[in-house]
Amino acid sequence: MTDKMLKFVKLNRQTPEKRKVDKRIDDFDEIYEQFVHEKAKEQSSRCSQCGVPFCQIHCPLHNNIPDWLKLAAEGRLQEASQLSHSTNNMPEVCGRICPQDRLCEGNCVIEQSGHGTVTIGSIEKYITDTAWEKGWIKPLKITKEIDQSVGIIGAGPAGLACAEELRKSGYKVTIYDRHDRPGGLLIYGIPNFKLEKFVVERRTNLLKKSGIVFKQKMEVGKNILLSDLRKKHDALLIATGVYKAREIELPGKNLKNIFPAMDFLTASNRKGLGDKVKDFDSGILNAENKNIVVIGGGDTAMDCVRTAIRQNAKSVKCLYRRDRENMPGSFREVYNAEEEGVEFIWLSNPKKFIGSETVSSVLIEKMKLDKTDSSGRKMPTPIPNSNFEIKADLVIKALGFDPEDLPKLFNDSNLLVSKWGTIKINLRSMETNVPGIFAAGDIVRGASLVVWAIRDGREVAIEIQKYLTKKKINKIKAA
Ligand SMILES: Cc1cc2nc3c(=O)[nH]c(=O)nc-3n(C[C@H](O)[C@H](O)[C@H](O)COP(=O)(O)OP(=O)(O)OC[C@H]3O[C@@H](n4cnc5c(N)ncnc54)[C@H](O)[C@@H]3O)c2cc1C
Ligand code: SF4
Repeated sequence: MTDKMLKFVKLNRQTPEKRKVDKRIDDFDEIYEQFVHEKAKEQSSRCSQCGVPFCQIHCPLHNNIPDWLKLAAEGRLQEASQLSHSTNNMPEVCGRICPQDRLCEGNCVIEQSGHGTVTIGSIEKYITDTAWEKGWIKPLKITKEIDQSVGIIGAGPAGLACAEELRKSGYKVTIYDRHDRPGGLLIYGIPNFKLEKFVVERRTNLLKKSGIVFKQKMEVGKNILLSDLRKKHDALLIATGVYKAREIELPGKNLKNIFPAMDFLTASNRKGLGDKVKDFDSGILNAENKNIVVIGGGDTAMDCVRTAIRQNAKSVKCLYRRDRENMPGSFREVYNAEEEGVEFIWLSNPKKFIGSETVSSVLIEKMKLDKTDSSGRKMPTPIPNSNFEIKADLVIKALGFDPEDLPKLFNDSNLLVSKWGTIKINLRSMETNVPGIFAAGDIVRGASLVVWAIRDGREVAIEIQKYLTKKKINKIKAA
């Protein structure tokens, strides 16, 4: 990399606002593009084509990684993009937000031999972003329309992937979603600095142009009944995700300025999308100039702390009751957060929220890890007389998500759910106990990953197609 490029890469790390006022930005785009291109080519050619594609095996979509790396190294980006799209409905999304260190890259043979992984995610993003820029990605052209329709509840990655696959085969597809924009957690959960919203909108617009009908602000169970949808469509998919925030039962939990993570992240994402957000504009859900305390050690907690930093918080502290080695979130995310100025208070457990009307501090007790539970995971136990207090103007609870009570929400007690509230399906056919109703994504797995939701969406599309074909044949036989 030349010195000039290095200078401009550094410049790119600035916030968009700073970059806008920086005059050196003039030739930035051109030089940065050249740098990205060179870097992607250099990285792609690092793949040793080892013949034991552990990267591919550990990618939930079994993407044909070695082959598209080879094509990218040879500069055959259009073919690389086609190959990448043959197994993935949104490679540019996965390239940006998959925890690659736990999936493809973590299992790269070069990484295993201590030479640093091929940066598979970045190359996947580069190939697909280039394909978008060059206009190689086009709406679907349906050669034969099929006179059967599928209703999909939920416009997250599982619903979108299933919709695209069914539409490719010629089915009529309508997606119902309670939000005003499609994308599910891609649009309102995951922050813009990890996944730019134009990337999601570009995809959903393409699906609209492919003939998929989106019915937004349509909450099933409230604006329309499941039973009505069943009459309207030949098959249904439930892909509603998991949204019930886990609670923390502590004295002071009803004080003002204590919020669940999704309230904070949705407000920030809406703001980024140009919406008027009352609670953000009034300052309630804005971290600027505040002492922020985030409770939790998963990826949602990391998104909250990093969003708070970007909102110019005075201080950002993250409380987690285990230590760094035993936290559920990605190490890369913790590293990024620390680099950005987040302070992690490991082995700490909140005991009480303190304040008169509004929270002003959190009482914490120190923990130690000594015993091990049945799964072999270290269990935190309190250290006696170790309490201390930290200042807090805004507390964000990021303790994970459970499914909502879907049978109640849908007003349909026939739908079988597991003891965790996830929808029960036949693992082979992905059908629920109600014939013709299928389910996929987080609402079946519990909180998981985008790449798994896409895989489920693709697999359930195959099963729905089998069901619809059988239905059609039976109808012909009966006629
Ligand atoms: C803050 C946060 C950050 C994350 N970061 C990452 C990450 O970096 N990488 C990663 O791989 N994964 C990440 N995840 C997980 C990932 O977003 C989910 O696993 C994935 O989005 C699940 O897809 P889904 O389609 O099953 O559900 P969702 O994306 O949740 O979509 C479900 C859709 O259903 C709609 N819906 C729900 N109920 C109804 C109803 N009754 N009627 C109509 N519509 C309804 C919702 O509005 C929503 O649009 C993150 C999750 C969170 C919360
Ligand atoms: S989809 Fe995710 S796991 Fe698969 S190759 Fe892309 S970044 Fe890696």
